[in-house]
Formats: sequence, structure tokens, C-alpha cells
Amino acid sequence: MRNDQPSAYPIDFFGENVFDDETMQRYIPFESYRQLKEVIEQGGQLHSSLADVVAEGMKEWAIAKGATHYTHWFQPLNGFTAEKHESFISPTEGGGVITAFSGKMLIKGESDASSFPSGGLRATFEARGYTMWDCTSPVFLKEDKSGVTLCIPTAFCSYTGEALDEKTPLLRSLVAVDEQARKVLTLFGHLDTRRVSPSVGAEQEYFLIDRSHLKKRLDLKFTGRTLFGARPPKCQELEDHYYGNLNEKISSFMKELDYELWKVGVTAKTKHNEAAPSQHELAPVFSAVNIAADQNQIIMETLHKVAARHDLCCLLHEKPFDYINGSGKHNNWSLSTDDGQNLFEPGNTPYENMQFLLMLSAVIKAVDEYSGLLRLATASYTNDCRLGGYEAPPAIISMFLGSDIQRILETIASGDQKPEGYQRKVMDMGVGTLPKLHVDSSDRNRTSPFAFTGNKFEFRMLGSSMSISWVNTVLNTITADVLSEIYDRLRACRDFDLEVNAIIREIYQDHGRIIFNGNGYAGDWESEARRRGLPVVPDTVSAAEVLKSSAVIDMFAKFSVHSKEELMARYEIILETYSKKAAIEAKTMLTMCRRQILPAVRAYLAQQSRQLADTQSAGLDVDYLRVHVDEIAALVRSLIAQTDALAAVTAGIGDYCDPATATYCRDALLPAMRQLRHTADCLEEKVDARFWPIPTYDEILFDE
Ligand code: ADP
Ligand code: MG
Repeated sequence: MRNDQPSAYPIDFFGENVFDDETMQRYIPFESYRQLKEVIEQGGQLHSSLADVVAEGMKEWAIAKGATHYTHWFQPLNGFTAEKHESFISPTEGGGVITAFSGKMLIKGESDASSFPSGGLRATFEARGYTMWDCTSPVFLKEDKSGVTLCIPTAFCSYTGEALDEKTPLLRSLVAVDEQARKVLTLFGHLDTRRVSPSVGAEQEYFLIDRSHLKKRLDLKFTGRTLFGARPPKCQELEDHYYGNLNEKISSFMKELDYELWKVGVTAKTKHNEAAPSQHELAPVFSAVNIAADQNQIIMETLHKVAARHDLCCLLHEKPFDYINGSGKHNNWSLSTDDGQNLFEPGNTPYENMQFLLMLSAVIKAVDEYSGLLRLATASYTNDCRLGGYEAPPAIISMFLGSDIQRILETIASGDQKPEGYQRKVMDMGVGTLPKLHVDSSDRNRTSPFAFTGNKFEFRMLGSSMSISWVNTVLNTITADVLSEIYDRLRACRDFDLEVNAIIREIYQDHGRIIFNGNGYAGDWESEARRRGLPVVPDTVSAAEVLKSSAVIDMFAKFSVHSKEELMARYEIILETYSKKAAIEAKTMLTMCRRQILPAVRAYLAQQSRQLADTQSAGLDVDYLRVHVDEIAALVRSLIAQTDALAAVTAGIGDYCDPATATYCRDALLPAMRQLRHTADCLEEKVDARFWPIPTYDEILFDE
């Protein structure tokens, strides 16, 4: 086991803690390896005899690497990962122990399902749940100072077979999109394509702050964000942090992060400072979505772990600080085939590439028809704090295609064949020593929530702390739904080319309203969106209602991705989590106010009053002081009244399982919290810094 940073070049240790293809071949007899590969690549049943052989090889490898335990590693519906460590030790009759790890232990685990969010699917008295090995995502080793553990990615379901996790529906959606996309491809003559699968690259934004602040601020400790904090004199207006030079503290953190990620096979590729002070980003190279989703969880865990080693704290909250950018996760999504096609690659002559234009149109229709569902897939209590603010995309789903692609679709929609003067542009800067560049077919539009970026779609509404699984489950399934419709039409038509053209035209005419190439941050976009009939969904509580729509329920059922019961469970979990998070924030504010801020401002007020009296008795001019004391006294009075008001509203929070509680939290609790914060922040700006009991924004954000 090695905890220090490996000194060798990445190529020497990349994936050393992954039971990858090469390692499998070393530890599993060839015939069994071949059978396992067949199951991984083509699906099918994994027989227990094969599982026994694979488990033996895995155990041998893991123990050789220092592992003492294994765990089924899964993603329950609480947004985190779960693990229960079991040692490899098994007692013998003679009183000793041997190491044991059977195929059964590898493929199946049992767990108490009632202690994870289940939205009523599991009551405590019928608690059994199962974890099942997902052999399509590689097994890996987690190592830290405490030891080495073999982690087995698993799906998690209830005794009655309902999915209680993020992975199961994602895996089901892969089947749906594969089947439907492949059917359409056969009509274009691709008879040998054996698989269509989504690829995803998830860019991860995060904040790093000094760990010492965590101890001094209950809000950071309990909620991951600041619930108080006045605007510092400088935020990000100088645009000096984005891509800024990485200081040594941060770059040594990033170096170790890269090493840790490379060891577990995560292809961490880019790293840079982001727009807000103390904000950074990491992006891996894209991979199959199931693996990308598991690896994004590993990335988030590793960010926390490595930060602690550097006396830093990583904040994955979507909006840790007001007045500056929040953090998101950009989900770059494409569909590719086993024979090497990217279905969203326009090629050099996109106007002739009918397959590309049809696939693109399918996504346009899917995004417009199910925009409410996509909106929900990115909604959470914490992401509500971000969407619509600063750099975040607005809370309205629209698509950016870029002018070239849009012009092609427009031309088809108007009945013409070829757009006028379409040509890839070459940029010449007029300086002989600078290269001449081919310009991309679409510009960047940072304000669009769903942007076509050359040969993939970048969905930017995801929150930084979210699992990417469900968003991709939704993307895959809604695309499958539209493709299945398209297939039915094409199969029944007489003239294939004409029908493809007609479908593209109709989609553009019926769903073109979702395309918006303009500035999504502009004030008039919301009214324009409403005029177009696009849903404007400001928060999670409103967004959740889409799960009750029969179109959504039927669509998920059609492709066996979600049962109605699972969707209702999700609905309950979303609202329950919303209410609980709101309640925790309110209670944290109350504690901070009563035990830290109020005592501090009262002490300051007392000191100022004494000073006023002393100055007065010395016969000096005291007007300026009286004004100040009066002002502080008035703010303190407001603070006390607003604390009491928030306490009263908090006391009125009902049963978390009742969806009405979430509405109450949104409509009554959040405004009370905002008011209280506003008053506290005004006081922070006026009170002697020596009295202020918690670190301020300038201390937290600018001490890199
Ligand atoms: P930017 O910040 O310009 O969006 P990044 O390099 O930070 O670019 O991230 C782009 C992400 O998109 C990376 O994770 C990259 O691997 C991924 N990506 C690139 N091509 C594809 C593709 N065809 N399908 C899915 N993801 C892709
Ligand atoms: Mg980026």
C-alpha cells in the first residue's frame, strides 16, 4: 500500500487500483475471462460458477495489494455513495481463519433498505434490500491511511424489485437508447452496428477554503454553504481568477488529486481556476456513462479526502457564497456506436448528413417535449440557490445550436435543399506566424443550459453536488422515446429520404421554440420564453410535479426504466429532502444567530453605549456616536424580531413526508431566512471587526 504520491510517470501507475482488463487477464483463467467479457459487452446472465472464479481472482489481486475488506459500493437516493465493509476473513473449524470471497459474495449483498431514502417503498418492518454487482463498471480499490478496501460497484433494489438507487434506472435507460437508436441506424444501412451507447464527460466545479473556517462556521459545517455573510469589497469583477495562475497550495492539492484519481482509473484531464475566488474545476476525459457516473462519485469523494490532507475543505454546494458564481456540473453527452460513429458528429457537410440532422432533431424534440423532466433532473434544494444567479444558466430549459446548424434546419424547414453559402470558415489573424484556424461550426454560449458544442450536447444546469446518473437516465430515455417514434414512421414510409426530410422539418417547426441562441442571462429572456410557451420553473417544489404527469409515467414505463411506484417514491424523496435541508438551514441560522451573532452585536452595542455615555459626560460632541448607537440598536431589534419570527416558522414545519411541507418551507421558511440574513449582513458591515464572531467572506475567499 502506498499513501505517498507516486514518483513515477502517470503511465506507470494509471489504473493500478482498478481491476481492469489487463489485471483481469492476469488473475482470471482465460476461458472465464472471455466469458466475463462477453457478459460485460453483450449482457446476459453471469453464472455462479463463473462468479466464483472471478471472485477468487479478484480476492487474490486485492489481498496482494493489501486489501483486508470488500464492500458493495452503491448509490442510494440520498445523493451519496454507500458502503458496508466486510473482511475477507472466514473462521475455520480448527479455530483459525482463512480468507474467503465467493462468487455469491461478489454478485449479491443484503442490506437494510429502510434506512435509505425509499419514498415509502420500504417500511422499517419490511426492510430487506439487495445489492447486485454491476460488472460493466470496474471494481477498484480504495486506499487511505486506514487500509485498503475492494469496492464493487453495485445496483441496489428492494426485496420486491423496485430500484432504490441511481444506477439501476441508468442501466435500464442504456438498454432503451441502444435498442431505439440501433433500429433507426439500420434504416440508414448500418446493419453491423451492435451497440449504441451514451458517452459522458462531466466537468466538476468546486470551492476550496481553509479547513479552519469549518470549525468556526456552523453553516459551512452543517449545510455546506454560508447562511450569513456581507458582500466583500471585491468579488470577481476583475475577472482575474478564471484560468488564473495556480498558486502552490492549490497546485499541490491538484497534483495529489490527479494522482489519486489516476490510480483508480479516472482520466482526470483538465484543471483550472474558475471564475469565482477560491473556485476551481476538474474535468475527466469522457467515457461510457455508467462509468462516468461512478467516477464522478469517486471524484467528489476524492476531492473531500485530498482537501482534508491539505488542511483545506472542499465545498461542493451549488452556492456556497452569495455575490459570486456558484458551482455546477457540465454534463457533456453524446451517443456513439461500437463501430466508431459519433451520432452527433456533423462532418464537413452537415447539410448533406441526414442521419446527423435526424439524430439532432430527435434530441431537439426530446428536450422540448420533456423539458419539465429535464428541469426536475437538475433541481434540488441546493441547486435552487444557484440557478438563475450570476454565471448559472437560467431556470428555463432552452437549446443552443449555433447559427450554422440552425440555418441548415431552417433551410430544411422552409423546403429548400441546401443553405446558401455554407462553408467552414477559416480565421486569418493577419499575422504570418500565427496559424490559420478552421472555425468551429458553433460559437460558445455560456448562458445556454443545453448547448450543442460541435459533436455533443453540454447540459449545464446540473448542480455541482449532484449525481449525474438521473439526468443521464432522463436524457437516454427521452431520446429513446423520440427515436422509437421516428423509427415507426420511417419503417412505414414509402420514400425514406422524403420522410427523413419531413420529420426534420416538422420537428423544427413544432419544437423550434426551444432553440435560443441569444443571451440567457438577459432580462428579457424570461418574458420571451413565456411568450414561446416554454415552462419557467423556478424551484424544486414546482419542478417535482412533472413526475405525476401521465406522459412522463407512460414514457418511463414504455421502456421499463421506471415503474410508476418508483417515480412516486422519487417524488416523495425529492420533496422530503427539500424540506429536511430547508429545516436544517433554518435551525443552523437560529443557532448561529442566538449563540454567536446576537451575543456579539449586543456586546458591541453595550460597548458603544458606554462610550457614548463616557463621551457625553466628558462634555464632547456625541451626535455622530448617538446616530451610530441608534442605528445598531435598531438593527439588533430587527435581528431579535426576525430570529423569533424564523423560530416560529421553523416550529410550524410539519411532517417531512407530507409534500405540503416542502411548499411551506419554500413559501414561509425561505423568506424568513432571507430577511434574517439581510439584517445580520447589514450588522456585519457596521460592527467593529473585533466583535464579529465568525470568519467573513474576505477572510474565507481571499486567503489562498
Ligand atoms: P469546456 O470547459 O470547454 O466545456 P472541458 O475540456 O472542460 O471543456 O470539458 C469538456 C468535456 O467534454 C470533457 O470531459 C470531455 O472529455 C468531454 N467530451 C469531449 N467530447 C465528448 C463527446 N463526444 N461526448 C461526451 N463528452 C465529450
Ligand atoms: Mg469547462
